[in-house]
Amino acid sequence: MNDLNTTYDIVIIGGGATGCGAAVDAASRGYKTLLVEQYDFGKGTSSRSTKLVHGGVRYLAQGNIKLVREALAERGRLLKNAPHVTGTQPFVVPVFSLWEKFYYSVGLKVYDILSGKLSLGKTQLLSRKKTIELLPALNPAKLVGGILYYDGQFNDAELCIDLVHTAERYGATVMNYTKAVGLIKEKGIIVGVELADTLQAGARDQATSGSEHRTSVPAPQKVSCKTVINATGVFTDAVLQMDDPNADTLVYPSQGIHLVIDAKHFKGTNALMIPKTDDGRVLFAVPWQGKVVVGTTDTHVDHIEAEPLPLAEEIIFLLDHFNRYCNAQLTKADVLSVFVGLRPLVKAAGTNVSSMLSRDHTLVVSPSKMVTITGGKWTTYRKMAEDAVNNAVFIGRLEGGKSAAKLNKKSKSSDKSVERKCITKDLPIGDLGDSQKLAEQLLKEAPSLGAHLFQEVKKISSSDGADHSVGAYAIRAVDVVVAARCKYVKTVEDFLARRNRLLFLDARAAIEIAPAVAAILQKELHWSNEQREEQVQSFIQLAQQYIIQ
Ligand SMILES: Cc1cc2nc3c(=O)[nH]c(=O)nc-3n(C[C@H](O)[C@H](O)[C@H](O)COP(=O)(O)OP(=O)(O)OC[C@H]3O[C@@H](n4cnc5c(N)ncnc54)[C@H](O)[C@@H]3O)c2cc1C
Repeated sequence: MNDLNTTYDIVIIGGGATGCGAAVDAASRGYKTLLVEQYDFGKGTSSRSTKLVHGGVRYLAQGNIKLVREALAERGRLLKNAPHVTGTQPFVVPVFSLWEKFYYSVGLKVYDILSGKLSLGKTQLLSRKKTIELLPALNPAKLVGGILYYDGQFNDAELCIDLVHTAERYGATVMNYTKAVGLIKEKGIIVGVELADTLQAGARDQATSGSEHRTSVPAPQKVSCKTVINATGVFTDAVLQMDDPNADTLVYPSQGIHLVIDAKHFKGTNALMIPKTDDGRVLFAVPWQGKVVVGTTDTHVDHIEAEPLPLAEEIIFLLDHFNRYCNAQLTKADVLSVFVGLRPLVKAAGTNVSSMLSRDHTLVVSPSKMVTITGGKWTTYRKMAEDAVNNAVFIGRLEGGKSAAKLNKKSKSSDKSVERKCITKDLPIGDLGDSQKLAEQLLKEAPSLGAHLFQEVKKISSSDGADHSVGAYAIRAVDVVVAARCKYVKTVEDFLARRNRLLFLDARAAIEIAPAVAAILQKELHWSNEQREEQVQSFIQLAQQYIIQ
């Protein structure tokens, strides 16, 4: 570990959507940037979303046109800049009265108009017959018709890793399993950050020694910096209080769960959207990666956990609503995986109902020169990152920043020649084919790496009798090797939860396949047999939480 031997312009704490986005923004403007994440990149809320790149139809009903317009613009940019992890998803809203048909069709037409040139497809009114044709699982009782509209969909964890790659491409230093544990100050101003390695003792050194990747550089204990961005999601208050033990708390965490079910229970390619459930929430059933994601809930929680658990009533709520709207009688046994995320909602005066809290983001600048950014949603991560970096550049008096008067104004700056503007609106996201090239090269050298881990697939199919689709489990040995060498994988969980999404898609299948993945990672990351076994056991323990007992 080093001792204050490098000075970063910006240290970003938190490797979720917001922090990774900020790292891309800062590095691509030419700032010396360090991104630290206490676990794996995306391990927090950013791998646990409903996977929608959306403007937020329901915020329209709340009259928040500005938020929706901004999110729709970001939706368009994200689909353009990261086409390999995003796509267009058709949604059908079933309606059960003529009034509903009128109300939702007007709303969804406005939604489409607000997206302007970035529209993903025209909103259409549907007859009863067409609605049933597009949503064959729908319960037709009392159905009047429907509305078809389009939104975006993505692989959240994959996008997170792609953002890390992009930041690195522009020179950022990125460190997973590195926790910010203290802020170093001089005269009340932050001048550095204390960092701790969070991988189990010994595992990290061995894990990284065989990798050519940048993360093989050991984490410095202390790094100096000119400014800090706190992008720690639901952990925001802990970092705020690291800065000032008397700081007011900002975050009102709200839990949302998703149930993943087999596609045989919800056939077709269209998603179901119920705009108003019993508790005023939106309910989705969305085809994703060969399965169907049903969500979500909105439950305030007092405790913040890295692995939040679903509440029994949340599971019942989703099953009941799915069964009510669809021709299925699902039980807990039909759930392949349940995953839970915590929304970093920002507290507001006058309400403690989390579904009423704003999904807009909040930015706080501390006197110590720390920028805290929280709230918002995945879809708007780029704009959040831009705002955070603009403010960090200003308070850190970094070269190329705008003057105070111009920070939040659109007027032209007189020092334009030196201003380092945000370039992320049109910046392609990803590793630009590096991992693909590595896979091709490895397969040339050792074609056997192309073999799918099919043994496990057959075992899974026969042991639980479920109708699994092979595609979801088509993990090749080469995918695991590439993930270890250039996708920052340090554990079995990193691979099975966030590089391949098997833990989220079918937790039992992930348990079955874990030993095969661990055996490949053992070679790549130079684990001992004990470490390999430890990895498998700790993954199994975690995966049990994704299975409804
Ligand atoms: C149920 C649910 C569904 C959602 N669905 C959607 C959707 O469909 N579309 C959409 O656009 N948005 C959606 N969202 C919102 C979106 O997922 C979040 O707004 C976004 O992921 C938040 O990203 P973040 O980077 O702020 O937080 P996080 O992803 O939680 O990242 C913060 C990171 O900081 C790390 N960290 C904390 N403390 C430290 C420390 N001291 N040192 C180092 N690292 C630290 C954490 O480990 C964590 O990884 C959903 C949210 C939920 C909960």
